[in-house]
Amino acid sequence: MRTSFITQRTYTRSSGLKNTFGDFTCMHCCNFVSADAALSGVHNRNHCPYCLASRHLDLFEAGDRLSACKGAMLPVALTWKRSPKKYARPGDGELMLVHRCRDCGRLSINRIAADDDNALILSLLHAAANLDCQTFDACTSVGIQILGRADTSLVTRCLFGQN
Ligand SMILES: [Zn+2]
Ligand SMILES: [Zn+2]
Repeated sequence: MRTSFITQRTYTRSSGLKNTFGDFTCMHCCNFVSADAALSGVHNRNHCPYCLASRHLDLFEAGDRLSACKGAMLPVALTWKRSPKKYARPGDGELMLVHRCRDCGRLSINRIAADDDNALILSLLHAAANLDCQTFDACTSVGIQILGRADTSLVTRCLFGQN
């Protein structure tokens, strides 16, 4: 059934990466989510701004929609993606959400959108202390560094503006 996945992948690419997700109804909290980039500030809105849940749709890269899993991906933690620039300063980078698939355990890191619930994002910082060790180990093994309470000032600066 999935023998033609490479062709599909090329097709997705050539059709452009804008709004590959489209509007959707959140499978977790049932809210309607608009993919309008004017609201989210991102072109590939892939999680719900109300509960931050996502869906396991992608297999190789964001937007490919090739995964057969389709499980709920729940936010488990926050991480810091360092700037890939060679001469980046220590604080350069981007705050990211870590999602974990409830069904298969797949981890993914995702950009935070402008209209995401900041209080919920902040709560993930505190939830990190109680993260189950299976998830924690899975993150560590793929190089995802989980942010904790010690990173509060960094995270609040990202969420609520540069001082
Ligand atoms: Zn939701
Ligand atoms: Zn999954």
